[in-house]
Amino acid sequence: MKNIKDYSISELKQELEKIGEKPYRADQIYKWLYKVNVTSFDEMTDLSLALREKLKQEFTICNYNILEKQVSSDGTVKYLFDILDGNAIETVVMEYKHGRTICVSSQVGCRMGCKFCASTGISFIRNLSSGEIVEEILAVEKDLDIKISNVVFMGIGEPFDNFDNVMKAIEIINSPKGLEIGARHISISTCGVVPKIYEIADRDMQCTLSISLHQANNEKRSAMMPINNKYNIEELMKACRYYIEKTNKRISFEYALAKDNNDNEQDAKELVNLLKGMLCHVNLIPINKIQDGKFSKSTNENIIKFRDYLNNQGIVATIRRELGSDIDAACGQLRRKRGEEK
Ligand code: SF4
Repeated sequence: MKNIKDYSISELKQELEKIGEKPYRADQIYKWLYKVNVTSFDEMTDLSLALREKLKQEFTICNYNILEKQVSSDGTVKYLFDILDGNAIETVVMEYKHGRTICVSSQVGCRMGCKFCASTGISFIRNLSSGEIVEEILAVEKDLDIKISNVVFMGIGEPFDNFDNVMKAIEIINSPKGLEIGARHISISTCGVVPKIYEIADRDMQCTLSISLHQANNEKRSAMMPINNKYNIEELMKACRYYIEKTNKRISFEYALAKDNNDNEQDAKELVNLLKGMLCHVNLIPINKIQDGKFSKSTNENIIKFRDYLNNQGIVATIRRELGSDIDAACGQLRRKRGEEK
């Protein structure tokens, strides 16, 4: 059956017309779904009983079950959701001064195979639909009785490998009739799917773009991130410059520091050479050690040295606050652990 959350408001109007209903009913349904966050059609009390029955025949309201929930002492909450087809996905909520940020998954598994990622080793199963992505937010808001203020596409999956569904999810998240989260509060992170960087630049979206860079030279980046064999650093930087020129927006480069791998002075120098003069920000991430992973966290001293070097060379760099270090906070850890236990 069709998931009613997979429809933008204009599409839902068309769907309703197809079953002989007035298009304006879509506004009422949207209000119940995204403002009230109901879990059944029966709760849509300003719709006639006949229409509610019709909707039940045509659509499902996708409501995730919580398989596992971990709460960190710093307020980070990590969920493993049962997405109703036997698969599970992870979603994380973090508390910042500027509000609650949700990190959503965009796929079940991932095709990209980044070596530092806990999702690696779990094969790609399928894309999430737009409604399934949106449901991550609704399920968390319902469970915690909160309003999410920021959304980052940094969970499991490569958002640009599921481009159309992610774009439609953003439309629903951003819509004043949907979740009404401003585009500037939505961030998409890619490992470097170059053609989609051009596409997003041409769409002139107000969302923030993050690039998972992690290495500044091709040899090391290819060893860590197979996507680099397809689109190397030069191609990636060319697309990033196009994006900046077109949108006049700053790009955030993610750089996960791994001990004795990409955290020494030479690495910092290469990174400066790559980014010098660009409208950008570097987000340094103390890597989360994953089970059996071959990467481990840099020392605090190295992380600070690395940041200071970039800042002294005119590249704005900050260190991401470590959240959820007492739970399985790295993407894919919870799902992977559960898979192994099974
Ligand atoms: S880091 Fe992101 S893109 Fe890379 S394998 Fe993990 S989920 Fe996929």
